Amino acid sequence: MRLRIIAPLLKYRRGSTWFGVHQDGVRFAVYSKEELAWYLSWRWGVSRSVIWGWYSKFLKGASACRCSPRKNDCAPCGLAALRDEPRADKGESRWFGDHPAAADVVLRALSERRSIRLIHQALQLALPKAPSYETVRCFVGALRLGVQR
Ligand SMILES: [Zn+2]
Repeated sequence: MRLRIIAPLLKYRRGSTWFGVHQDGVRFAVYSKEELAWYLSWRWGVSRSVIWGWYSKFLKGASACRCSPRKNDCAPCGLAALRDEPRADKGESRWFGDHPAAADVVLRALSERRSIRLIHQALQLALPKAPSYETVRCFVGALRLGVQR
């Protein structure tokens, strides 16, 4: 939910034009992040300071990604920070560290050039309790960059 609320702000950062819809159905363009925050605050009934808090929390998590030292815009890590969860990398390392068979499944699937979506599906089929898609995505991202784990 938090992500859904701040998603327009995150997209705006990447330079796309954002359009809102007024209560009367009239579309309007937003020209600044500040303006967008005002709109989101009104739209969701959440104070702007709370919205900015979530926003910076996400960015901080995303830029402090430890799945890969070379990654500075990791959505799964941003989301983990937003959820007040422990760092995604910790969870991932622990999870895949505790499930070497699952790590093997991922490695084999990667060697067959399968997509992350398919890898996640394979894990769901192979295991009684598969990790989340985000955990798999982060793990695969780190593997692809050749990071030692
Ligand atoms: Zn990450």
